[in-house]
Amino acid sequence: MKKTHADLAEKFIADEPRTNWHDDTLWFVREKRDKAAHGLPEWEQLREWASQIKNHTLSNLYNYLTEFEEKAKANGIMVHWAADGEEHNKIIHDIIRKHKIQKIVKSKSMLTEECHLNEYLQEHGIEVVDTDLGERIVQFRKEPPSHIVLPAIHLKREDVSETFHEHLQTEKGNNDPQYLTEAARQHLRHKFVQSELAITGVNFAIAETGGFVVCTNEGNADMGAHTAPVHIACMGFEKIIPKAEHLAVFLRLLARSATGQPITTYSSHFHKPRPNQEMHLVIVDNGRSRQLGREDFRNSLKCIRCAACFNTCPVYRRSGGHSYHTAVAGPIGSILNPNLDMKANADLPFASTLCGSCTNVCPVKINIHEQLWKWRQVIVAEGYVATSKKIGMEGMAFLLSKPKLYRFAGKMGIKMMKTFPALTNNKLNPWYKQREMPEPPKESFREWYLKNGKIKLKE
Ligand code: SF4
Repeated sequence: MKKTHADLAEKFIADEPRTNWHDDTLWFVREKRDKAAHGLPEWEQLREWASQIKNHTLSNLYNYLTEFEEKAKANGIMVHWAADGEEHNKIIHDIIRKHKIQKIVKSKSMLTEECHLNEYLQEHGIEVVDTDLGERIVQFRKEPPSHIVLPAIHLKREDVSETFHEHLQTEKGNNDPQYLTEAARQHLRHKFVQSELAITGVNFAIAETGGFVVCTNEGNADMGAHTAPVHIACMGFEKIIPKAEHLAVFLRLLARSATGQPITTYSSHFHKPRPNQEMHLVIVDNGRSRQLGREDFRNSLKCIRCAACFNTCPVYRRSGGHSYHTAVAGPIGSILNPNLDMKANADLPFASTLCGSCTNVCPVKINIHEQLWKWRQVIVAEGYVATSKKIGMEGMAFLLSKPKLYRFAGKMGIKMMKTFPALTNNKLNPWYKQREMPEPPKESFREWYLKNGKIKLKE
C-alpha cells in the first residue's frame, strides 16, 4: 500500500535534530522574505497587480497562448503541445532520437519532475544530467527534490560530503562548502562542455514577444542553452503572461518571496535560436485544463513557484518535502496534486493546520488555505478518506449538533481523563505521540463563562 503523508512524516521526524534544523533553516528563509517584502513600500500593490494579471491571463488563456505560439514560431522556435506527461516525454524523446543525441544537460524544471522525464529517459537508455547543484545532489542519491526552490534542503553538509565522496571521489569527511562546491563546479563544467542538448524550464512566457524567461541563481540554464546545439524548453501553459511590461511585477516578487533576494541572479531571456541552434518549446497541459474548470481551485494556476508557502508552513517545515510523495510538495502541491490523481493524493489537503500563513505570504494572492479546506470537502464527498476518519468525523458531527449530549460527553471526558489517564495517554492515541497530553481542566469553558463571562460583560 502507498505510504501516506503521515507515515512518511513519522519517518522524517524520527530524526529530531534534523527536523529542528530543517524547521529553523526554512524559517530563516521565511524571515529573509519578510525583510525583503517590508523593504518595498509598494509590496502589497505588486501582489495585487500580479494577482490581477494572472486572473486576466487565465480568463483569456486561449488568446494569449495562440498569440504566443504565433510569435514564437515567427522567431524560429519550434512549438509543440502536450496533453499530458507521457506526450511531453515522447516529444522530447523524438527530438533526442532525431539528432541521435547521447549527452543531455537539464536545468531545474519542476514540470519535468511532474512528468517524470528523467525516469522515462532512463528507461529508454538515455542519461540526463541535472545541473542545478541541489538537483545534482539529489540525483546522485536517486532521490526526488524535496523543495521546489531548494531541492536538497533536507540534507546537511555532511550528507553532501558523503554523496560527493561516493560519486565525485572528493576527500572523505571534507565538509567544507567551498571545497564541495568547487568539486561540483568542475564536474558540471565537464558535462556542459560535452552536452549536445539542453533542457530548461520556463518561468514566464510572454505572449506579446514570443520569448520566454528562465530564472536561476547558478546560471546553469544559460550554460546549458548556450553550449548545446539543441535547446528544449518545457512549460506548463499557465506560465504565460500577456506583455513584456508585466515581467517586472513578477520578477520583483519572485526572488523576494523565494529567498529574500531582490532579484534572481540570472533572469535569462530567450527569444530565438542562435545561428545553427535548434530551439523547441513544449507547452504542457497535464491536468491544467481540468483545474482551470474547477472553480474553487482555478486560482492555484496563478502560482509562480516561489515556495514562500513551503517556507512558512508549520507542517512542511516539520515533516519534510518527501513526506508529500509528489513532485510539487508543500501547501500548493497539496492543491495541485489531488487534481492530477485524487485517490493517490487524498491525504495531502489534510497535511495542513489551515492557519492561513501560506495565503498570507503568497505573492500572487492565492487563497491557499481556503482551497485546502475545499479539497477536504471534495475528497470526503468523493469517498477518498479512510473509513476510520469518515466514521470519526460523522461521530463528531452528530455530537456537535446535540448540545446537551456534547456537554455530557465533555463532562464525562474530563472525569475519565482525571481518573484513568491511561485511557488517553497511550500509544493508540495519535495525539499522544511526541506530545504531553494537557492536564484535564477543572471546568469546561462553558461552565467558566456562565460564572464569569456575563459578569465581565456587564462591567
Ligand atoms: S502558491 Fe504562492 S507562495 Fe506558494 S509557491 Fe505558488 S506563488 Fe509561491
